[in-house]
Amino acid sequence: MNVLCPLCDENITLLDVAQREAHADRCLEAMEGGHKLVVKEETAISTELKVETALIEKPLSDERDERLERIARKDKELELTYEAHLTKPKKRRNFKERKSEPPLKRSIPFFKILTFPGSKFAVDAFCYGPLEVDAYFLTHFHSDHYGGLSGSWKWGPIYCTPATARLVHYKLNVDPKYLCEVEIGQPCIVNGVRVFFLDANHCPGSSIILFNNKVLHTGDFRASPEILETVRGYTTKLDKCYLDTTYLDPKRVFPTQSYVISRCVEHCLSVQSTNQRSFFLKPRENRLLVMVGSYTIGKERLAIAIAKALDSKIWTPEPKLQILNLLKDNDLDELLLKSGNGVTCQVHLVSMSELNKEKLAERWKFLKKHYTHLLAFVPTGWTFRGTFDPASLPCPTSGTIGICKVPYSEHSSYEELQNFCNGIQIGKIIATVGSAHLNILQQWETR
Ligand SMILES: [Zn+2]
Ligand SMILES: [Zn+2]
Repeated sequence: MNVLCPLCDENITLLDVAQREAHADRCLEAMEGGHKLVVKEETAISTELKVETALIEKPLSDERDERLERIARKDKELELTYEAHLTKPKKRRNFKERKSEPPLKRSIPFFKILTFPGSKFAVDAFCYGPLEVDAYFLTHFHSDHYGGLSGSWKWGPIYCTPATARLVHYKLNVDPKYLCEVEIGQPCIVNGVRVFFLDANHCPGSSIILFNNKVLHTGDFRASPEILETVRGYTTKLDKCYLDTTYLDPKRVFPTQSYVISRCVEHCLSVQSTNQRSFFLKPRENRLLVMVGSYTIGKERLAIAIAKALDSKIWTPEPKLQILNLLKDNDLDELLLKSGNGVTCQVHLVSMSELNKEKLAERWKFLKKHYTHLLAFVPTGWTFRGTFDPASLPCPTSGTIGICKVPYSEHSSYEELQNFCNGIQIGKIIATVGSAHLNILQQWETR
């Protein structure tokens, strides 16, 4: 199954899920970068800059229309050339041209369309042009799911959780009249189909969606006994389950989030106290900084637990702070530093891409004036294929940096997928992510 980036159309089939998300995030940042430029240039007074601003400010829909026209013109030209020189082969566009002019309508994977008697829905399918469906559903705010949504969206109502709706409106400028908020666990009737959004244990606002108590779409989820119990509270038999098969591989073994969080918290406390006992440092000079990597949203729970243990607020860069404020999460509301200097906090929640040796060393030149040592946590699910040994986490001494890669996944491990599917009767399991082990799914279906 081919996977294209929802934003630039590049083929990202060979990338792992985290790499795909990072790729799409980069595309999104590039788009946002353009908008930032506009804001900056609006304050400029030179005519030259104003002209540039006017060029940049064109809304995306105009660009799309122009692109459509350009392609139509080009197609027409090609057609004419072809008619005039019937014996000559039709001119092929070179790779560069094709890349700058992505196909406007891609074929939609079958598992994104759900059909019920008298109703048709699309799930996480916004980059395929207008679809003949009664409603659209968005499971969560990650770019590989909302790709295609923008301020020019007008193809139908989008059902999602309130937190996701706020993010879609704020970040993507989608008109609120298209956003239908459904609280987790609250029933909702869409075109005659009874729908429940249930917690996905993935990122904030994420959901799995249960249709007519018979069909479950898991979006992206980290299966758990709690999720299984919740679903079983509605039904003991599913006709179909659209399953997040990101880690459908018996080799994908990793510990629970709560285990990893506890070990990371213990490690922070241990590093802090070890250094406090250092003979050469006075206690007031000893200050550990913990950086936690994250995507646009996701992985916040690790930062929250560490901040509580260290009795610190959490600093995060302004754009991310605005996003996290939209989640209306009690813990985050209490812990996030809303204004003031970040160096007053011992926990920084930053982009995953900031946590490499080079960038950290560069930042440390400034930060070492305020902290004595730095622990950076890179929470990831896909690099781990073996066991997690908390004792092997690096312990930075005074003046140094330790980078800890920890198996903190927001997708189900193989075992969790197996337990989930075996815990409820499922007639047909449909994979939503490519895997070399799809044949396993048949064994988990009820015969
Ligand atoms: Zn996701
Ligand atoms: Zn995803």
